[in-house]
Amino acid sequence: MSVSGPCAICNSASVEYTCNRCGQLVCEDHYDESTGYCVECAAELGQTENIPESGEMPDGVDTYEF
Ligand SMILES: [Zn+2]
Ligand SMILES: [Zn+2]
Repeated sequence: MSVSGPCAICNSASVEYTCNRCGQLVCEDHYDESTGYCVECAAELGQTENIPESGEMPDGVDTYEF
């Protein structure tokens, strides 16, 4: 099975991917495999994808010593 149609971004004929968000057909160069989105959607959503999780643990443990 093959998807027919030009890339929605660069108009290339070699379209192999479909954006999981907007559904437009994009070529390999304009498809973000990590997210499954086209580069346009990845650019919109990618702003929040690369925020590193804070590994800081709050030191709020109380220790009682008699
Ligand atoms: Zn393209
Ligand atoms: Zn998209």
